[in-house]
This record gives sequence, structure tokens and C-alpha cells, in this order.
Amino acid sequence: MANHKNQTILCVRCGAEMEETVLEYFDCYPPQLGHIIFKDIPAKKCPECGEVYFSVKVNQTIDKVITEKIKAPQKVAVPLYPMANYIQQVSGGV
Ligand SMILES: [Zn+2]
Repeated sequence: MANHKNQTILCVRCGAEMEETVLEYFDCYPPQLGHIIFKDIPAKKCPECGEVYFSVKVNQTIDKVITEKIKAPQKVAVPLYPMANYIQQVSGGV
């Protein structure tokens, strides 16, 4: 797909016009690095169905970080919930 600035991109799922946005977080699970999170990613997002599209440049940046195992400037602690501790507490069928 061509990658020009200000080019109209239609959603591959529903055909609506994608809008410029900045995605706050994007989770990746590359086998080399485990769980990593990118923050503030320029992207196009479908206002109708929520489909997100990254430019070639953003995809290449993500690939570079992963393949070169670039060290993140910061880490976050994410709350972890072992499902077995909580699954009995909800009511409802199987
Ligand atoms: Zn859509």
C-alpha cells in the first residue's frame, strides 16, 4: 500500500474513512522481547469500527525496536490477576 501524507485511507473492514489519531498504547508480544508496549503512536483509526492502521514508517520502527532489541527508556508495572483466584467469585453459567 502506498504511503503518502494526507492520503485518504478507507477502512479495510467497513470502508469508512480513517481518521488521523495518536494511539495512546499499543501492546506487542514479540517472542524475542515478551510483552512490550509502545506509547503515543501516530495512526489512522476507523471512526466506525475501531480498526487501526499504522503507516509503513511506524511499522518499520516497531520492527526495528524488536529486531534490534532496543532497550526501553522506562518500564511499567502492570497489575497481574491469576484467574484461578477470582473465577470462583463470579456467578453465572459455564
Ligand atoms: Zn471500519
